[in-house]
Amino acid sequence: MADVITPRSVDYAQWYVDVIRAAKLADYSPVRGCMIIRPNGYALWENMRAVLDRMFKETGHENAYFPLFIPESFLAKEAEHVEGFAKECAVVTHSRLKIDENGRLIPDPASKLEENLIVRPTSETIIWDTFSRWIQSWRDLPILINQWANVVRWEMRTRLFLRTMEFLWQEGHTAHATREEAIEEALRILDIYTTFAEEYMAMPVIQGVKTPSERFAGAVETYCIEALMQDGKALQAGTSHFLGQNFAKAFDCKFQNQNNELEYVWATSWGVSTRLIGALVMTHSDDQGLVLPPRLAPTQVVIIPIFRNDAEKSAVLEQAQRMERELKDAGFTVKLDARETHRPGWKFNEYEVQGVPLRIAIGPRDVAQGTVELARRDTRTKETVPQEGLAARVRETLEAIQQNLLARARAFRDEMTTRVDTYEQFKEVLEEKGGFILAHWDGTPETEARIKEETKATIRCIPLDRDAEALGTREEGRDMLTGKPSKQRVVFAKAY
Ligand code: AMP
Repeated sequence: MADVITPRSVDYAQWYVDVIRAAKLADYSPVRGCMIIRPNGYALWENMRAVLDRMFKETGHENAYFPLFIPESFLAKEAEHVEGFAKECAVVTHSRLKIDENGRLIPDPASKLEENLIVRPTSETIIWDTFSRWIQSWRDLPILINQWANVVRWEMRTRLFLRTMEFLWQEGHTAHATREEAIEEALRILDIYTTFAEEYMAMPVIQGVKTPSERFAGAVETYCIEALMQDGKALQAGTSHFLGQNFAKAFDCKFQNQNNELEYVWATSWGVSTRLIGALVMTHSDDQGLVLPPRLAPTQVVIIPIFRNDAEKSAVLEQAQRMERELKDAGFTVKLDARETHRPGWKFNEYEVQGVPLRIAIGPRDVAQGTVELARRDTRTKETVPQEGLAARVRETLEAIQQNLLARARAFRDEMTTRVDTYEQFKEVLEEKGGFILAHWDGTPETEARIKEETKATIRCIPLDRDAEALGTREEGRDMLTGKPSKQRVVFAKAY
């Protein structure tokens, strides 16, 4: 039975959940806020991971693995870090359970740990404790490490993929001899995230820097990429932090520089998570279900044979299998669904819901004419094309889909980006249209907090070079609320 997908116009939040369920990406877990990632969702994550992993390695990073448990005392060492994360930590206090006199399972008081353990919400503390033992001299630098792991943050308001209590991510942690080198690294990673978002996810992003109030706890500067979802709300899709010497100081990590002086090491950290799957769903999908960009789709092409009797079956299947081989040899991920337990119409719907970019249908008439029917998921258009030269045709079409998704998302984002000069206009646009709002801000946390309180909109970022240029935000003006001087426009939005 086909799952019903609530149209976006009726209930966007329900639509999102419906698409995830219908496309079999994830399921709820018995623990609130956690999530079961189903094979379709996990295959998507594996593809994202493979691309990012290659990009990190090409820029000199190596993978490592640090423990899940962090001594509680570590968290306390960096003052801002602990303040930011203490509120959302899972804490292990005992190592055993026992059955009490009422027959209930309880933590065994005799097994209380000498020091509590934190389930990592992020790994800066344990990594900088380690780095302090690995780094002595400038010759030991830089260290460029990444880990693929799970982390736990005790989130109160959760939403599948976008914000879960346990999530999968990569976290990069690097150590450098100079401030400049560390900033350069943080920005290099921001560029990698941007390339990944735009060229693979087909999701346009704004590169920017966070205001102090939105900064990562313990960072000197947080760089980010911000995307816009179809309901006009923003999503922070990735962050790259310049940590200064904060963690080196907290963990006493010094190195001897080339002048034989002892100096604290400079740091960065950066991460993207399974949130990106939610971003992908919210950027491209439609009322029929998931829409996936070909470069990340676990199955790029599905072939569905159509026949009514054994004679048709053997002729159709023979050609379908030949096409499958030809397309696999050409490097595409192809699935031939020849199951006779399901009708072709059911399969059409199933793969449409699951977002397979391209569907090839072949029936007896196609066999006779040497043709197939190609159907694009993004535009939901069909055409009959010759079997001859199919691989080239498929390559072109997948590329066209990839480009179309980016162009469509960019057009939407541009259309949903508004410049405003007064607070009245600001509130009106926020209420009626949503999206990114480019407005002047006086640079004070007080004004930022007041706008957030009154409208729920936050400053998503202050655009960096590339996007400051494109959006024309680098111009002086007056704060829309206080009238005080402003050095540039910033990006406001309601956000996930
Ligand atoms: P942070 O360490 O807070 O800078 O976050 C690193 C990355 O993880 C960012 O790209 C966030 O979007 C993402 N992230 C943060 N919290 C969550 C969460 N609860 N669920 C999924 N992704 C998250």
